[in-house]
Amino acid sequence: MRLAFFDTKPYDREVFEPLLKASGIETIFYDTRICQDDCILASGCDAVCVFVNDEVDRKVIDTLAEYKVKVIALRCAGFNNVDYKYANSKGIKVVRVPAYSPYAVAEHAMALLQTLNRKIHKAYIRTRDFNFSLNGLTGFDLHGKTVGVIGTGKIGRVFIDICKGYGMKVLAYDKFPAEGSDINYTSLEEIYKEADIISFHCPLTEETLHMFNRGTINRVKDGVVIINTSRGALIDAEALLLGIRSRKIGGACLDVYEEEAEYFYEDRSGNIIDDDTLSRLISMPNVIVTSHQAFLTKEALGNIAATTVENLLAIASGKESANEVV
Ligand code: NAD
Repeated sequence: MRLAFFDTKPYDREVFEPLLKASGIETIFYDTRICQDDCILASGCDAVCVFVNDEVDRKVIDTLAEYKVKVIALRCAGFNNVDYKYANSKGIKVVRVPAYSPYAVAEHAMALLQTLNRKIHKAYIRTRDFNFSLNGLTGFDLHGKTVGVIGTGKIGRVFIDICKGYGMKVLAYDKFPAEGSDINYTSLEEIYKEADIISFHCPLTEETLHMFNRGTINRVKDGVVIINTSRGALIDAEALLLGIRSRKIGGACLDVYEEEAEYFYEDRSGNIIDDDTLSRLISMPNVIVTSHQAFLTKEALGNIAATTVENLLAIASGKESANEVV
């Protein structure tokens, strides 16, 4: 098997290269993201490996099909960026890594919340400059607060356990509640009404696109803190900004952003940012943004690489892969 590996970062290469070599998959690593113009890089390859912001749309799939590419291997869990139905209709299999470390993402969600709440990022900068003033650094106890968890799959459940460790009251919503679990399920409306903190852990689908919007923001508790480590477009970012400016929303912890593909994972520090919503969100004192890094732990990277290689080998040997997206 010959593989074109797109959107390669040094940390990907470090983990993937030895595994791919050992498995006999000949790999060409490209820094560029997959797009119609760069599809030529996949010519002569049987498979492509892509990440969260590689937009694998119909045009890209048509070109991949022309090059006789047989597999699109996502090295992530979410697959909203791949038109998998169209790929399947062209005879191209799509595989993903459904689970690699729910702990990595859930722990990052809590790290974001506590950084924002206890203003650790500000304190760090102050003390490095020998400014030991505490003015403006007041946070709140998590103990006794109500957290609403939307999506109680692998990551949502770990996040619930972490919140319980803090002595928080947990309310949860899932379109498909886990039967027989001890999760305290309620309606979305109840979560919006009662929660001091709301954390999103459901996938991005047609149904969940902008599920948090102007209408819902009007119904949340004053001062609610929003955490999104799932997919940016679950939240209407313009509406979130308005909610923050009107003081209705008390804070936002964002690892993902609707229009992140243009910016995240790259050093844009020397550029003028054209996305006013992103610029204004980042400029708010009660917003913290990380660059879709919740997955980034050694354990998660190792599991992602191992499962991706297993997925590719299964397809290469004509077997079914349990991780196929159909
Ligand atoms: P999962 O499939 O285990 O759980 C998702 C849960 O969402 C399921 O319980 C499902 O029933 C529920 N759900 C589906 N539709 C829903 C709806 N309309 N409303 C409410 N709940 C709904 O997935 P997971 O592994 O827990 O991952 C959750 C999300 O986290 C993924 O979809 C992915 O987009 C995101 N993610 C982000 C990162 C990161 O680095 N920031 C890393 C991994 C995953």
